Amino acid sequence: MEEYELVIVGGGPIGLYGALIAKLYNLSFILLESTNSFGGQVISLYPTKPVEDSPGLANAEGKDLIDNLLKQLEKQNAIQNLRLNSKVIDIINNNDKFLVKLENGNVISTKAILLAIGFGEVVPKTLNVPGEKEFLDKGVYYYVKSREDFKGKRVAVIGGGDSAFDWALDIIDYANEIYIIQHNDKLKAAPLSIEKFKQKNGKILLNKNVISINGKDRVESITIQDVVSNSKEDLQIDSVIIAIGNLIHREQFPSINLEKNQYGFIIDKDCQTSVKNIYAAGDCSAYDGSRFLSVGFGQAALAVEMIARSLRPAGLAPLH
Ligand SMILES: Cc1cc2nc3c(=O)[nH]c(=O)nc-3n(C[C@H](O)[C@H](O)[C@H](O)COP(=O)(O)OP(=O)(O)OC[C@H]3O[C@@H](n4cnc5c(N)ncnc54)[C@H](O)[C@@H]3O)c2cc1C
Repeated sequence: MEEYELVIVGGGPIGLYGALIAKLYNLSFILLESTNSFGGQVISLYPTKPVEDSPGLANAEGKDLIDNLLKQLEKQNAIQNLRLNSKVIDIINNNDKFLVKLENGNVISTKAILLAIGFGEVVPKTLNVPGEKEFLDKGVYYYVKSREDFKGKRVAVIGGGDSAFDWALDIIDYANEIYIIQHNDKLKAAPLSIEKFKQKNGKILLNKNVISINGKDRVESITIQDVVSNSKEDLQIDSVIIAIGNLIHREQFPSINLEKNQYGFIIDKDCQTSVKNIYAAGDCSAYDGSRFLSVGFGQAALAVEMIARSLRPAGLAPLH
């Protein structure tokens, strides 16, 4: 069985920062992230929004912040301590250690845990149409990882809310042609975004259901059906961004009794939960205030320092 001094659960910004501090303290650790990308809410909900309150990073968009955290981890040779597609489903108290159970069947033993699971796993809703799974990352996307993917492309953004328009506006200067496709006649996005999109010659198709995504090796077209007339047509496009909302799932860790309130896991002044050697930081902690990245970073640094001190009672080398 794999054994570590520390397991960090969650690869959002706060878990990543906790990993950096763990590496600087030379702890043996692993970070487990349930989805297939690091960055948590920042990447799944606002990668291109400016994060004006980022300490020391002028003009940083969400994904710049995460890229920089990953670069810092790379510089410390800690990328191998980070694992994707590793969802923690339970934690078992095993004398003075914990067994961390993963959905994939693996079990990891650890002396301490830092929970950084935010408000849970954010999973984009799917359209469930033919071609969607087949062309994932070959023209089908749920968010914009890189604007370059859309350079000179004909793009259909599915959805009529803020995220659909935010993505569309984010790439409108890169794409050759861009459509917003909404299944009814209501657009829920901010009127200013809709106006901007129209001014930049974006096209809006209302009352259209996407019924298939077609192509050979990658997306070549989509078939849309008018909800009023039922008539179908093929739209020649290269890429589809599906932005119809997210599902949020928070694990309960049934074998361990961590005290919670309406904000999250209850923690003491050192960020330790009601179970000794399990700490929590960031949005999953019961911090009764605005959700600031900077608060979560501070909690993660404090929690990891406390863990390092308890694991190295003879004393810690100063970090800086
Ligand atoms: C639209 C929006 C804009 C924001 N803008 C700002 C801003 O400008 N400035 C600012 O300071 N803050 C901002 N915030 C708040 C900030 O994004 C959050 O405080 C921050 O993301 C919290 O980070 P976290 O790592 O605690 O949680 P998250 O970002 O939620 O990350 C948690 C991670 O844990 C993973 N996870 C969950 N469950 C498990 C499990 N069982 N096993 C393994 N992994 C798991 C998730 O997949 C996710 O990757 C904004 C939030 C939103 C929604």
